[in-house]
Order: sequence, then structure tokens, then C-alpha cells
Amino acid sequence: MSLITTGMIGFGSGGSGSGASGDTVAVELGMPGTRVGDMVAQRARGNGSRTTAATMDDSPAAVSDNGAPADSGPLRAANATAADMDSGWANYINASTGSTDASDDTAGSAAEAEADLEELAAPHEGPEWETIEVRSGDSLAAIFSRAGLSAGELHRLINTDDRTAQLQRIYPGDEIHFHVESDALQGLRYDIDDADTLVVARGDDGFDVSIESRAIETRVKHASGTVNSSLFVAGQDAGLSHGQIMRLMNIFKWQVDFGRDVRSGDMFSVAYESYYIDDEHVRDGPILAARYVNRGNAIDAVRYEDPDGNRGFYNPEGENLRKAFIRRPVGDARISSGFNPNRKHPVLGVRRPHLGTDFAAPSGTPIRAAGAGRVVHASRKGGYGRTVIIEHAGRYRTLYAHMSGYASGISVGTRVEQGQTIGYVGASGLVTGAHLHYEFIKDGVHRNPMRVDLPSGDPVASEHMDDFIARAAPLVAQLDDMHEEQEQQLAMRDEE
Ligand SMILES: [Zn+2]
Repeated sequence: MSLITTGMIGFGSGGSGSGASGDTVAVELGMPGTRVGDMVAQRARGNGSRTTAATMDDSPAAVSDNGAPADSGPLRAANATAADMDSGWANYINASTGSTDASDDTAGSAAEAEADLEELAAPHEGPEWETIEVRSGDSLAAIFSRAGLSAGELHRLINTDDRTAQLQRIYPGDEIHFHVESDALQGLRYDIDDADTLVVARGDDGFDVSIESRAIETRVKHASGTVNSSLFVAGQDAGLSHGQIMRLMNIFKWQVDFGRDVRSGDMFSVAYESYYIDDEHVRDGPILAARYVNRGNAIDAVRYEDPDGNRGFYNPEGENLRKAFIRRPVGDARISSGFNPNRKHPVLGVRRPHLGTDFAAPSGTPIRAAGAGRVVHASRKGGYGRTVIIEHAGRYRTLYAHMSGYASGISVGTRVEQGQTIGYVGASGLVTGAHLHYEFIKDGVHRNPMRVDLPSGDPVASEHMDDFIARAAPLVAQLDDMHEEQEQQLAMRDEE
């Protein structure tokens, strides 16, 4: 068992991120007659109250400036897990004991769920029960019809309360268990999510409805590896899913240009949550802490959410790993013209400084706000065409020109988040082709957007620093342990 990987997949294409927008899996069935969309059978749940609490959004800024999927919340985590190969884990991942951290929202439900476990054992199979699987394109009405139930019975059921109304959100591949006698529904069971099951029984008048819950156990898992040719191969060898590797890259993308900087010998260590029910792995949760050693330079990241709800990945000193600005408002687009104070203007033919960076991209490509701020201009501006200017905290302004249009809701005064789409690439104004002209202005002076030192996002607030350090210290210790173990293994391998 070697931590060294010998992958064939080059790293350069890593940023293209298959499935970058594949997070829309849930199908909403507004009405019983609505068809289930033609979707993959994967379920992206997490709308159950307990599971949601346990998998809050991973992302300090759910954006990516390199085309990679945004850091994922529960939905995408669930997707990635579904595609996982669970078998590879044993080699490199040490499942440790369940975390007793106060942030484990699942822990609270353990006791009440315990009581339900006995009920769970109650059989819902046997001659009186029938299981119907939801097919792609199915409707609740069709499913109930196959179960021998009328539309009226379905209507009564889903209108019983908001728990039965959840049946309107079903997914291809789901199973609904029916107990039907004399054309009347006697019982129904449906797994709402990993932990909760909807249980319906015929009552004296109407239906008795309950939710059976199983306790979700949170474990902290570790994975580490050394890059030979590809971080993806090394990550997979360490038992990380594609989604987890993308999230790992997303954490460090501000410090490491994963398209260029990754070297053979780079090392990573990750501690992440993983969820279990009855000792069975259900899916993985957020990355809690990670270390990436790039060309011998180690960067640590610890996930933290302060009591005010600010969250992100911070170094052990509490500094934000995220920068206050993304470098490229249009992702991977080619730079067609750089910052050049002495340039000759391509249309006018006269010497005219180019005080920004041009990104060539097809008309309609979304343009993202480089940083959080307030829109101070959103209209035509001479040769700039349709232009947005954002004022950022303190000393910064960014300008986006030649747009084909503005994103809906963008006007003067609008508050925007980092990464929010503000408009679309176009060719308005004095241009030769569709591109984004982007300017970065600090203290009233134009800077080279590709070179300027970007300020970091907000650090952990001083009043929460003690809390942060108390949480970060054990996680950093885990990273140290993993790293040390890795070095020992590498040393042993070298001796052989
Ligand atoms: Zn330009």
C-alpha cells in the first residue's frame, strides 16, 4: 500500500469540472398529476430537518473563479457520495470515533430516534403490503392507481398535513410501500430521507401520520495522500470522491493555482465528516480541516462558523483563506488584451492606455462580481457600452464593460455578493468583438487586475477568536498526525 500514486490523468483539465451544474436533482411534484422529471435516480435530499442541520453549506463563498463547481452544500455532497466507490476507503481512511463536538446537530435527535428504532423493525412487507417504485416520468396519481387507490384517496392523503404533503416530492427510484384493503389505504411507508420515514396508518377518522427517525451518527474521517502526477488520482487513491477533491481544491484555490502550481510530491491531508445510520455509511459531510503542501509550502485550512453565522475556511491564525476578490470575473476565459498603460487603441488607432484586462468570451457568458459590494453604476457609459461599477468596502472599485445585458435585479444601489452574476458578456460600446473589459481600481488608481495583490476576506472576528482557536487546535493536531504518518510512510518507502 503506497501513498504514491501513478496516475495517467494530467492535471490541467481539472478545472473543467464535470457536473459543475449537476446539482439540480430534486424533482418537485407540484400536483399529484405532475410527472416526475426525467432524472437520474440519485436523490439529492437533505431537506429533512435533521440532515440539513448536519450538512450546512461548506462554502464561504459558493463561487469558483476557475470553472470548478462551487464548494458544495448538502445537495452536491449527496450527489458526489452517490457516485463514490466506497470500497477504496479502508486503505487510507481511519474512521475515528464520532465527534462529540457541539456542532453535531445530529446528536440531539439520537435519543428520540432511539425510541423509534423498535418501531422500525415492524415489518411492512408481507402479503398485505405492496412496494411500488417510482419511475422516471411517473406521477403520484399513476402510482396510487397502480396500488389500486383512487384519486380521491390520494387527495385525502396528501391534504392530511404537511408531512403527507411531502409525497408530492418524490424521485425516480424511490419506493413507496402500500397496504391497501378494499380499495382503501390502510398503511403507507415512505423514506423521506436517509433518517426519516413517513408512516401513515388508517385511523378512526382519516389518517394517522407519524415520522420515524433513525439516529445519524457523525464520524470524522481522515484521508491523506501524495501527488505524483495528478491530484485527482491521488485523491481517489486516498478514498476521496470527485466532489470532495473539487471541494478540497476550492478551499485552497486562492493560494494554489491548481492548473499550474501542482507538483509531484505535493501532499494533502483532509478531515471530514461522514454520516452513518446503524453503522452503515450514508454519505459524507463537509471538510472540517485540510492541509495542502504545495512545493514544500504547507497551507492549513480550518472550517469555522462563528456565532453570528459568518463562516469560511481560515488558517490557524484565524485569517481567511478566501480573498476579498476573485481574480477572473468570467472564469477561464482567454485574456485577449492585458493591462497596458501605453497601448494603442485597437479601434481608434491612437495611443490610449488600456486600464483593464479584456477577457474574450462568447456573448451571454455570465459575469460575476469580483467581490461583495454595492452597485454604483449600471447603465451605458460611452465607449464602455453597458457597464456595471461596484464599490467595495473601503478603497476598491471594480468595473465591468461591454455587457450584452445586466443580470436581473442589478441596478444602482443593489448589494451583491462575491461571485454573484451581475451581467453578461457582450459587445456593446466601442469594441471589435464580444469580451469583458474589467478594471480594478484601488484608492482611485487603476491596477493590473491580474497582478494586483488581492486583500483577504474578513478574518475571524476578534470576539470569536478564542472560540475559533479552541475548535481549530484539535483539528490542526489531526492534520499534524496525518502529515507525520505520511512522511514516515514515504521515508519507509524510500528505504526499500
Ligand atoms: Zn478592454
